[in-house]
Amino acid sequence: MRLHVAVVGGSIGGITTALLLRDLGCDVHVYERSRSELDARGAGIAVLDATVRYFVERGGIDPDGFCSRTSAIRYLWRDGSCRHRIDHGYRFSSWNAIYRELLRLLDADRYHLGREMTAFADGPDGVRVTFADGGSTDVDLLVAADGINSITRGRLFPTATSAYSGYVAYRGTLAEKTLTGATFAELRDAITYQVITDSHILVYPIPGPGGTVVPGERLANFVWYRNVADGAPLDRLLAGRDGQERRVSVPPGMLADDAVDEFRDTARRELAPPIAEVVTGAETPFVQAVYDIEVSAMTAGRVAVLGDAAFAVRPHAAAGTAKAADDAWALADALRSHSGDVAASLAAWEDGQLTVGRRLLERCRDIGRRSQRDNAWDPADPSLIFGLHGPGR
Ligand SMILES: Cc1cc2nc3c(=O)[nH]c(=O)nc-3n(C[C@H](O)[C@H](O)[C@H](O)COP(=O)(O)OP(=O)(O)OC[C@H]3O[C@@H](n4cnc5c(N)ncnc54)[C@H](O)[C@@H]3O)c2cc1C
Repeated sequence: MRLHVAVVGGSIGGITTALLLRDLGCDVHVYERSRSELDARGAGIAVLDATVRYFVERGGIDPDGFCSRTSAIRYLWRDGSCRHRIDHGYRFSSWNAIYRELLRLLDADRYHLGREMTAFADGPDGVRVTFADGGSTDVDLLVAADGINSITRGRLFPTATSAYSGYVAYRGTLAEKTLTGATFAELRDAITYQVITDSHILVYPIPGPGGTVVPGERLANFVWYRNVADGAPLDRLLAGRDGQERRVSVPPGMLADDAVDEFRDTARRELAPPIAEVVTGAETPFVQAVYDIEVSAMTAGRVAVLGDAAFAVRPHAAAGTAKAADDAWALADALRSHSGDVAASLAAWEDGQLTVGRRLLERCRDIGRRSQRDNAWDPADPSLIFGLHGPGR
């Protein structure tokens, strides 16, 4: 299959797409706006099978080399006693580790940093993609994996909805080796939750510096969902210490001092001691606002939009990277089964992936409501298990 393909956005969705389309024989290139290799400092992620499918099925790489594993889900009460325990295994990693490992599998001359797409023109015979540096490329297929602020989505589907959920995630990490012995023992083999009024927090181990997954050398990672009203309160939080206007996140080290003081004080007052130890000890906490983004279509002409560029879902199913990867696998399958006929492939692909995105969005919205608004989060509820296609799947 000698299709020329441009993938815009060189993160997990974009690289997975490029690997799969390269394997089909396409001449595929990834264009990433960032000038240097990406670095989502400190962002731990729960890893579902779809995220690491390429490593397992094509790369011959065991994800356990860069993922930590836990065997239980535990809920704590405020006093630190165990509220509920489920024997259930999860795999965790850091966004950086997955990105680095994927990039290693892609030929260097197919990955172009510092190439920001500024425009595209779709015609019957191909798409012209134009970059901020004035260059352009002509391709048979444009795959937009340009994330939550996708300009492709904005141009193709201006009526797509983007709604702030009403809460943000405070996030951070602390080296396991700095934890007290009791806290390390408590957290080392579990994802540990605490449910608080209008809020919940989770802590899990992720690989340490250099990617080590040896217990004691990893990082304890927390994600704390807290309500922040839209408008001035959210704007103030996201402005950070340098007062910049931001819509999605405040990077590590850029939260304003009063915001850091406030969340550490609240942690001391409201969180179970082992969880509070991680939260108050994290040196460079950061914040991500949580959005629901929904499209009514994922293709237009010869353009396909995938991953967070299409549906950005609340993180409660831990399925964001899995969805991006699943979109990529489904696209490769569609191109293969339609022998590279772009129109037929995209039509078949869109049908299936719209359903995946809609179901996940609705499920995560519901979990978020139960936690952040209705206070109806039941630790024993099996529907809270992470999964892309449903709990545990
Ligand atoms: C609080 C929180 C917790 C999360 N937890 C998890 C979890 O546990 N597990 C999980 O799987 N997922 C999790 N996610 C979601 C996950 O991070 C995203 O779903 C995933 O990164 C989406 O990947 P993507 O490739 O679609 O987009 P992105 O990772 O957003 O990448 C988009 C890329 O496109 C580039 N780009 C943008 N515009 C242009 C342009 N014009 N030209 C060129 N390049 C461009 C950007 O620089 C970026 O590199 C979480 C998210 C949040 C907010």
